[in-house]
Amino acid sequence: MKIERIELFPVVLPLRSVLTLPRGASRTLAEGKQIILVKISADDGTVGWGEAGPSRRWSPETTHSTYTTIKHYLAPELIGHDAFDIQGVHSIMNTELATGLDPGQPVAKAAIDLALHDLICKKLGITLQTWLGSKAENGIELSYLVSVPDPDKAAEVTTKALAEGYKAFKVKVGHNPDVDVANVKAVMETAPDCVVWPDANQGYTLNQALSMARAFEDLGIEVFEQPIPMTDVYGMRKLMQRTSLSIVLDEAAMGIPYMIELLRREAVDGIAIKVNKVGGIHYARQMCDLARNAGMVLIGSGLMDAPIGFAASVHLFAAYGITFPADLNGPQHMSDDYLAAPFPMEGKRALVPTAPGLGIEIDEDKIRSMALDLSL
Ligand SMILES: [Mg+2]
Repeated sequence: MKIERIELFPVVLPLRSVLTLPRGASRTLAEGKQIILVKISADDGTVGWGEAGPSRRWSPETTHSTYTTIKHYLAPELIGHDAFDIQGVHSIMNTELATGLDPGQPVAKAAIDLALHDLICKKLGITLQTWLGSKAENGIELSYLVSVPDPDKAAEVTTKALAEGYKAFKVKVGHNPDVDVANVKAVMETAPDCVVWPDANQGYTLNQALSMARAFEDLGIEVFEQPIPMTDVYGMRKLMQRTSLSIVLDEAAMGIPYMIELLRREAVDGIAIKVNKVGGIHYARQMCDLARNAGMVLIGSGLMDAPIGFAASVHLFAAYGITFPADLNGPQHMSDDYLAAPFPMEGKRALVPTAPGLGIEIDEDKIRSMALDLSL
């Protein structure tokens, strides 16, 4: 089965809310959630869907860069290649766009990877979870993302989210240490029986992170996500030595070579896995295997994924038996999508779809109605 055609569809999904990172708002309401959908058709008519949905204040790829990368550099090299040769496809992509500390424009490469996984699983008549070879979980509990300026607002949004059925809360910190502790405390007091953890998105200095870790320990927090810059290996090791919290690396856990280096330097004891930041399922599953075999804490995450990235993540996290609530906050922030039928949910637990491939049906009329003019 050969790859015959690769089509791109830039679309924009409407947002009901935005999230703020230490570098600023991840995107504006007016911008919406911009994604590049990728449709790969094989020579026997089988079709697979992938998507690139970068977040430019989280990592350096943009909607435009993922479009031009896939269209001009990746897609032309893959036409005629065996669709089942995922390793070979990644080798070709990595030859065209060099890898470095990360897999080299991983969000763009992930779009191709997801479409191929969808395609070959559809051809085989199995789900992506079955392809991954584990039925550890049948769904993933979603967390609510709290990104607010003060504790009053934190309590208000937590109350609302509890009423919607959320049982876990991730709090964006890394802006202002005093307000950050108050925000986390307000969420914990509003949702006393729930899992709560802070994510600083690299926003603290080492000294700030050390004192924040003490404050979070006092509150009874167990996980502290990416407190300091991903390049500060010394700091990550120091922090791990000085706190009982699990320091979970997200931005730093961008690929296998850097993760191995962090393991060698005893500077990692937990990672947040995102399908898109590592270049797709092919590498994400290897990182999960590495984390599991090294006895690390493994949590699921995303980049405000639209349904394709969301579905791929649910299949992967369920296959690896991740029971810690996942920060897959696409459904929280997006007010519409391109699915023909709603994603299967049980409360705020996303169920693994049971149809072959990613198990979701794309509404191509809806995609056309959501078309994004990139004005290239
Ligand atoms: Mg994070």
